[in-house]
Amino acid sequence: MRRQLVAGNWKMNGTRASVAELIRSLCEQAMPVSVEVVVLPGSLHVSQVVEGLSGSQLGVGAQDCAVESGFGALTGEESVEQLQDAGCEWVLVGHSERRLILGESDEVVCRKFAAAKACGLKPILCVGETLEQREAGQTLEVVGRQLGGVVSALGISALVDAVVAYEPVWAIGSGLTATPQQAQEVHAAIRAQLAREDAEIAEGVRILYGGSVKAANAAELFGMADIDGGLIGGASLKADEFGAICRAA
Ligand code: PGA
Repeated sequence: MRRQLVAGNWKMNGTRASVAELIRSLCEQAMPVSVEVVVLPGSLHVSQVVEGLSGSQLGVGAQDCAVESGFGALTGEESVEQLQDAGCEWVLVGHSERRLILGESDEVVCRKFAAAKACGLKPILCVGETLEQREAGQTLEVVGRQLGGVVSALGISALVDAVVAYEPVWAIGSGLTATPQQAQEVHAAIRAQLAREDAEIAEGVRILYGGSVKAANAAELFGMADIDGGLIGGASLKADEFGAICRAA
């Protein structure tokens, strides 16, 4: 009943020329109609990608948004309205690189999530533990706190149509993937946490796995009961590999 979703997080990569080439090769990929596919280019390339993918089944989103809404004064930031105006339907919030390198707090992530919801952009809320936290047995506590902050501030109804991405920090860009069982355990805990608030909403929320997903491990991960697709970094920059991941969903 939950439609699988695969999102490609291009991070800080690409030039206009390499993005044009990636768009061209993505358009040649056979994408399964049963799967929702989204790409998240850097904001400088959003318009180019929206234009290049128009007429395809691929959606476009941004990697971040401002905490404040509207067309006001917040130098250097992009509001959800501006992203939407550029053709974004989706936005990532709380990616671990932003949380850990830029010090983005749960509160800031929550405000971004709220801003996205308020203007009709679909947020993908990223959560995940560091290696140290996993080794200390704190995984479910950390993920529960990251998710719980949003649920308690905005209410469970804010999660309708939202997407959660579980990305263990130790698996991102490291070549180390969580095993399907490790990922499923956390995904099930996320869904159970949401179900304590509202069972029906929890059933509908899509929970993506991210962290070194590639064509070779995607099918096994996506086959788990509570894994509803993936958030793909490095492998989303190669059209063939990304296409194969989408076909595995
Ligand atoms: P990776 O990145 O697939 O390169 O590990 C995933 C992400 O950071 O979203």
